[in-house]
Amino acid sequence: MTIFSKIIAGEIPSYKCAENDRFYAFLDINPIAKGHTLVVPKHEVDYLFDLDDDELADMIVFAKRVAKAIRAAYPCRKVGMAVLGLEVNHAHIHLIPLQSEGDMDFRREKLQLTAEEMEEIAHRIREQF
Ligand code: AMP
Repeated sequence: MTIFSKIIAGEIPSYKCAENDRFYAFLDINPIAKGHTLVVPKHEVDYLFDLDDDELADMIVFAKRVAKAIRAAYPCRKVGMAVLGLEVNHAHIHLIPLQSEGDMDFRREKLQLTAEEMEEIAHRIREQF
C-alpha cells in the first residue's frame, strides 16, 4: 500500500482540499508555494501515464476543478501543473499557484508552515471547490 493510499484510506492524516469517488486532492506536506496541492487517483497506479485514457482524462478534469478552487482561494497569475513521481510511486499531479516561473522550481527551499496554516489553506481551497 502506498503512502498516498494510506492517506486516502484515512490511515495517515492529510490536509484534504477536494474529493470525489475516484480522485483525492490534498496539500503537499513540503509545499514550494502556498496552495501547492497534489491530485491522486484513489485507484493505486505507480505512473501517471500508465492510467488508461478515460481515467487520465477524468483526472485532469478533476485537477482543473481543483486548480480553479486554488486560484479562487489564492489569486495567482496561473496554476501550474507538474508530473514528477520520483519520490512516491502513486500517480499524482502537482498543482502550484504561480506568480512567476521560479514558483515552479522544485529545488527551491520548501515553505515552513504550521499545521494551523496548512489547515487554513486547505479549508480555503475546500470552500472554493
Ligand atoms: P514526487 O513523487 O517526486 O512527485 O514527490 C512526491 C511529493 O509528495 C513531494 O512533493 C512530497 O513533499 C509529497 N509528499 C510525500 N509524502 C506526503 C504526505 N504524507 N502528505 C503530503 N504530501 C506528501
